[in-house]
Amino acid sequence: MDKTTFQLRPILPSTADRLREEGGPVYVADSTPGFPCRQCLRDADIGDELILVSHDPFSADSPYRSASPIFLHRYPCEPADESELPLQLTRRQLSVRSYDTSEMMLDAAVIDGQDLNDTLGRFFRAAETARVRIHNASRGCWATDVERKHDLHS
Ligand SMILES: [Zn+2]
Repeated sequence: MDKTTFQLRPILPSTADRLREEGGPVYVADSTPGFPCRQCLRDADIGDELILVSHDPFSADSPYRSASPIFLHRYPCEPADESELPLQLTRRQLSVRSYDTSEMMLDAAVIDGQDLNDTLGRFFRAAETARVRIHNASRGCWATDVERKHDLHS
């Protein structure tokens, strides 16, 4: 599957701003990569300020529903390009899970980020896959959701 057939669904800017307002522990990035912001989907530069918050990306109740830790730049940052797999993901070990429209898990894999494009292709080949959710494999931070991209002409 070509990467143009799916679309990243990172945290909504309005949700990110609400979490910033609610606050959390503040970190100053002292290494890179190491502080992945989940709004711009970039690894923070050394000296960037981030907050650590808890985010529930699920849209429906299911036994799998859970919140995960995420870093956000402390101050609003640029929304990510939703058509490209960012280096933040492709250079990490990831946990990738697919869900149906009821948020029930269909498939799951722990992968090297270099294989993300292929794994997304494999998961979306299943017609019942509505959404794929990506977490950092080691620390469990949620990174982004991914949806099938709908062809505007069909
Ligand atoms: Zn950011």
